[in-house]
Amino acid sequence: MCGIVGAIAERSVQPILIEGLKRLEYRGYDSAGIATLQGMQIHRLRAQGKVVELEHKLTANSATLGIAHTRWATHGVPSEANAHPHMSGERFAVVHNGIIENHGALRDELQGCGCVFTSETDTEVVAHLLAHLATLRTDHA
Ligand code: GLU
Repeated sequence: MCGIVGAIAERSVQPILIEGLKRLEYRGYDSAGIATLQGMQIHRLRAQGKVVELEHKLTANSATLGIAHTRWATHGVPSEANAHPHMSGERFAVVHNGIIENHGALRDELQGCGCVFTSETDTEVVAHLLAHLATLRTDHA
């Protein structure tokens, strides 16, 4: 179980996302994270512990699109490295609720293709899978 918030607005979404995380904190509270998109750049910030720990690390940001997550770990210890969003390169940021049953097989396959994992979570396979599939698509375009 976890809390997930997404926002798009005509003003900075950061306060909206943080307020959403606070309201959903009962669903997961071992770590929290946020990813916002500004131009073509994703800015990610994560913290172990409650949403307030994440809030303390934030600086003002005028991004108008973003996602956020408060985690209840199933795969991997509570830590900043395991906190969502998970990224692959600079193009994909993923938050996820639940369990990916075949994450081990996917991880092995993706590592075989050169993907470098930076967390112990099942979720990270989704970010790498998206990036990998996007690369294949570009190669065949
Ligand atoms: N299985 C994922 C993890 O451990 C998601 C957990 C959740 O739903 O918060 O990171």
